[in-house]
Amino acid sequence: PVVMEMRAVHKTYRLGEHIVPALQGVDLQLREGELLALTGPSGSGKSTILNLCGLIDAADRGEILLQGRPVDARDETGATLLRRDAIGFIFQNFNLVPVMSVAENVDYPLFLAGLPWAERQQRVREALQSVGLLEHAAHRPDALSGGQRQRVAIARALVKRPRLVIADEPTASLDSGTADQVLSLMRELAHRQGAAFLIATHDSRLTCRCDRVIALLDGRISPHETSLPLGAAA
Ligand code: ADP
Ligand code: ADP
Repeated sequence: PVVMEMRAVHKTYRLGEHIVPALQGVDLQLREGELLALTGPSGSGKSTILNLCGLIDAADRGEILLQGRPVDARDETGATLLRRDAIGFIFQNFNLVPVMSVAENVDYPLFLAGLPWAERQQRVREALQSVGLLEHAAHRPDALSGGQRQRVAIARALVKRPRLVIADEPTASLDSGTADQVLSLMRELAHRQGAAFLIATHDSRLTCRCDRVIALLDGRISPHETSLPLGAAA
């Protein structure tokens, strides 16, 4: 099944008198359990795609569908709910809250969603277990290594059981061994939970292990798209 789809999406930014075309007709489908890497030089439109699919910004033209239904970031109530419940976010710099423990960081989205305490506790335990960090539950993020912090961020993204996970350069600040572990974990969780991962990255350590790689150039999908067969990288 298709989790997320972009149909003929256009986006321009206005900078004073200048019009900056950021996306010029992008078509994209992301399936359940799939890791899709978006590559391309700086300015090619990767962040714009993440922002549109994460319902942080709206397209000018074209359609974005989440689980078959058109979504629109201009509908603030609907977009806020979808961002809260259906979409997980993973960032280059982890974006953990430093004054909260590991468990509190992972719990935070569930707290925002208003889930009952007992269920939150259960889910946080499971999420920390699945990233191998249960014994660090009470620690602050600054007591952890970079790779451990990114695993906390992955647990926080997945604890709400999102359909779509949006990751912006998730391995950029990790050394090679750690990046590899983080990627293996994302693959395993994608396949186990059926979430689709949309990953903007320059990191060849990561792209070579994604299911598909799409290269952007000047706001368009490059015809030289590299496509790996599903599962080839396992
Ligand atoms: P990256 O190349 O890592 O995606 P950028 O430096 O292109 O990051 O962009 C960082 C942030 O600045 C993004 O949120 C993007 O939307 C914004 N941005 C990029 N280009 C411009 C610009 N010309 N004017 C204003 N904001 C911009
Ligand atoms: P990437 O993530 O691949 O670096 P972006 O999506 O950030 O690319 O940028 C695509 C184009 O849109 C670039 O020309 C960039 O300068 C421009 N851009 C991005 N964000 C903004 C913004 N907030 N205001 C103006 N221009 C922007």
